[in-house]
Amino acid sequence: MPGGNVAPQLYQMMKDLQHRGQAGAGISTFDPNRSIIIKKHKKPGRVTEVFGGADEREFSEIMAALDGEKGIGHTRYGTSGSLTNRHVQPFERVHGIRYKWFSFGFNGHIANRTELEEGIRKEGYHLMLDTDTEVLMHYLSKYISDVNGADPKEMFRRLSEDFDGAYNISFLQGTGDLVAMRDPWGIRPLSGIQTDEGAFVASETCALYRFRPEKVTHIQPGEMAVLEDGELRVERYCPAKRKALCFFEFLYFASVTSEIDGRPVYETRKRCGEELARIEDQQINDREWVVIPVPDTARPIANSYAKAIGFPQIFDEGLIAAAKERTFIDGGDRRKKVMNKFLPIPSILKGKKVIVVDDSIVRSTTMATMVKYHLKKIGGAKEVHVRIATPPIIAPCYYGIDMRSFDELIAAPFEERIEKGVPDEDAQQEIAGRINADSLKYLTHDGLLNALGFDRSEICMACLDRRYPTPYGKKLDEGAHELFRKRDRSKGDLGC
Ligand code: SF4
Repeated sequence: MPGGNVAPQLYQMMKDLQHRGQAGAGISTFDPNRSIIIKKHKKPGRVTEVFGGADEREFSEIMAALDGEKGIGHTRYGTSGSLTNRHVQPFERVHGIRYKWFSFGFNGHIANRTELEEGIRKEGYHLMLDTDTEVLMHYLSKYISDVNGADPKEMFRRLSEDFDGAYNISFLQGTGDLVAMRDPWGIRPLSGIQTDEGAFVASETCALYRFRPEKVTHIQPGEMAVLEDGELRVERYCPAKRKALCFFEFLYFASVTSEIDGRPVYETRKRCGEELARIEDQQINDREWVVIPVPDTARPIANSYAKAIGFPQIFDEGLIAAAKERTFIDGGDRRKKVMNKFLPIPSILKGKKVIVVDDSIVRSTTMATMVKYHLKKIGGAKEVHVRIATPPIIAPCYYGIDMRSFDELIAAPFEERIEKGVPDEDAQQEIAGRINADSLKYLTHDGLLNALGFDRSEICMACLDRRYPTPYGKKLDEGAHELFRKRDRSKGDLGC
């Protein structure tokens, strides 16, 4: 943003991206006229909490202290490491030589972190934090030294040879260079925009719409956006690998207002609802039944599902999401957290057969508690039928979504009884029982692919079919899957 202070703009963009991570937030800015040429402000918490958004004076002081034409911002969604100020990004490496001084933000998860850690430990590096971001920081500084810091393109090319996983990086150097790169598999989205005020890049287009939506550029796998003199330039730093865009971005993670690689999230969710309606086998009428979404991601899914099964009106609101603030009242108890997350509307639910539509079931705590407590006990629903717009999740994610092990996934023990997303009759009933539902239906793999409009070869669906797109994803899966099957068989509760 030539001639302006980019910090307030970054603050607004981070608020627009708050759904991607609520654990922490931070901004780094660059000003060559300051003694501290890269300055940062970061800590755990939501964006408004971190930057004093509720206190005009505090907010203005923080923004003034960060004054700079160039900068990067980050909201943290942790998949590794605990949460202290040090874990919040942007990370920074301070150095007396300007090209070695840098700050960066990272979206994703490194699948070969263990091997990379061993590699730098052998070279004498010391790791302080339990997070892949620290490992990435050391490799970046190593590459900078190796290439004399002159060429971010060469630095990222080397990174792409060593790193496996999802890693979109925004990078601000003490020389004033500012770039944002998308990993060669394109697992996470990245987009940029050229405006009259300057150039901006964000993980999702929703953070760019305040400018001009029609001007958005989608950065492709293996490309980087260079932001120089207020101009956006896209360059390739390495050849793209097999594209593996995460399907879960469309269903769960991304904002419903965003477009990913040119495809609107909202339209995809709507098509998921239509596909779910296609496999509905209950005789549903609007006298005995109601259709409700789990707020907020499932709204467009429930909407199009209700329309497609012939309801005269779209869904009813049977559940309201409670205020999204950090709360300590539940003492970290997951079930209590879910109980406090929603409020039911008994006048909609009482005595009805309720179809509740959600985007996904991962661990089942949320759904099981919601069905039993909110819908049946408080709401007074007669029956609850669960419809899920994602096929059964049977395997962990090694690329940045917080589903870390087979043990935590409700559908994982049923893998052998699930065919292309369709559990056999008994498995379906068993899972339904575990979530206290009267019936359960998942979207099929084919239904999901129809809704996405992508070929299977262009996306990652590895948590659904264990076809991981990267070498280390495959390797981690083999080891973890074998261990899980052994443990599960020894428990004798495979149910097969
Ligand atoms: S494993 Fe699943 S959640 Fe992870 S990147 Fe692939 S599709 Fe997304």
